[in-house]
Amino acid sequence: MYFLLLDLSRSIADFFISHKSINRNKIMHASVTEFMERIKARNPYEPEFLQAVQEVAETIIPFTEAHPKYRKFKILERIAEPERMIMFRVPWLNDQGEVEINRGFRVQMNSAIGPYKGGLRFHSSVNLNILKFLAFEQVFKNSLTGLPMGGGKGGSDFDPKGKSDNEIMKFCQSFMTELYRHVGADIDVPAGDIGVGAREVGYLFGQYKRIRGEFTGVLTGKGQDWGGSLIRPEATGYGVVYFAQDMLATRGESLRGKTVLISGSGNVAQYTVEKCISEGAKVVTMSDSEGFIYDANGIDSEKLTYIKELKEGNRGRIKQYAEKYNCDFYPGERPWKIKADLAFPNATQNELDEQDAQTLLANGCICVAEGANMPCTPQAIQAFTQAKILYAPGKASNAGGVAVSGLEMSQNSQRYSWSREEVDTKLQQIMKRIHMICVKYGTEKDGYINYEKGANIGGFVKVADAMLAQGIV
Ligand code: NDP
Repeated sequence: MYFLLLDLSRSIADFFISHKSINRNKIMHASVTEFMERIKARNPYEPEFLQAVQEVAETIIPFTEAHPKYRKFKILERIAEPERMIMFRVPWLNDQGEVEINRGFRVQMNSAIGPYKGGLRFHSSVNLNILKFLAFEQVFKNSLTGLPMGGGKGGSDFDPKGKSDNEIMKFCQSFMTELYRHVGADIDVPAGDIGVGAREVGYLFGQYKRIRGEFTGVLTGKGQDWGGSLIRPEATGYGVVYFAQDMLATRGESLRGKTVLISGSGNVAQYTVEKCISEGAKVVTMSDSEGFIYDANGIDSEKLTYIKELKEGNRGRIKQYAEKYNCDFYPGERPWKIKADLAFPNATQNELDEQDAQTLLANGCICVAEGANMPCTPQAIQAFTQAKILYAPGKASNAGGVAVSGLEMSQNSQRYSWSREEVDTKLQQIMKRIHMICVKYGTEKDGYINYEKGANIGGFVKVADAMLAQGIV
């Protein structure tokens, strides 16, 4: 009965579309609402996952109305349903000899165009909802890179902050003792994300190698002496800056002399700062979960080296920067109220809301490029696109990380390493390609490039065509 009603309402909608008798946007909206109702019924209490699906549905459903084959075979609905979700217990002993229990996950979202690929996140906020949203985004992102990688994501509610190296190693070993059954160089290739850097990838890889007795490219982000790719640590941060430069070029602008806000102080943030500095921009903020620093003189290379040591070596807090360099620290706040030309939200999801967007716009911001995954709320994105400033969603602008992970996989298969210059050149080419795809699918009648629409459609088409070719699987 429900499906009958659904078909009936679709036919009515189609009738009105073809007769152009009522506002087309309203009908589009109705089909998105209908679609989302079905997704919500199957995934209740998963707000971030629903947010990510809705954002994609709003551009893909109108597109599929003009391309009925995708609709007939329910491609978007199938992409929104993970192929497989694995959840497991991760018991380990802390330094006091007490038993600790965490939960481990791997969401294998879509393998139409290659083995599952996507990071592992270790953070107290991790749950199935967060990983499903990340895995869903990853499918489109990986497709945009042009490399043969499906989408997945995993992790645990384990938080490495405040843990000793020994505890982190024990946790990683226990985590991999279950995960090893589900991953492999041609099956599923995890990498890092929040809370998972070179150290964690090392412990995970060591345990996989020990259990399987084989040295393969099962993880990316490996150390350079044991199968890692040059430029992988830098790739996401550099890539987001390359993408922003391509965006600015469409308006005859460049980064030189621009003032830049960056949130976060982890892997993505650090290398975004590094590339911005080398391109002649002035970065005035960085943050962590305790607040942000504002350095009106700009963060230079020497100060950035201090941040890298502080965060990677000593696991310190960003407020120590303010103490060392005598600048302002804003506890519990985010950097978006500072006047600047560009903003790179590079910490975590939903860290930039509508109010922040309005403040950025009022202060003359011309470009927002996401280094994090889904850092801007839907209302913030709407404010940017209505104001017609340059706005790039993470699935396009932060794809450099997974792109170089894909290059690491290629190098592992060939048992060969490319030079720094070779990898960096390939990264730049991939970011340019993604930009071109966004322009192709996202340019509107008035010439405005809607990067969100371009990235969604561009990412969708390749996966959708592969799914059509492979049948109902
Ligand atoms: P890191 O763990 O290296 O750094 C994360 C940074 O974000 C830290 O400064 C952290 O502060 C801050 N942060 C994390 N959670 C919160 C929160 N709830 N509120 C405020 N600040 C927070 O992670 P990455 O730099 O690797 O990842 C950052 C973002 O980029 C994530 O969204 C990730 O998914 C995305 N990304 C990462 C890629 C990669 O290659 N690493 C690739 C593509 C996307 P604190 O230390 O206080 O927790």
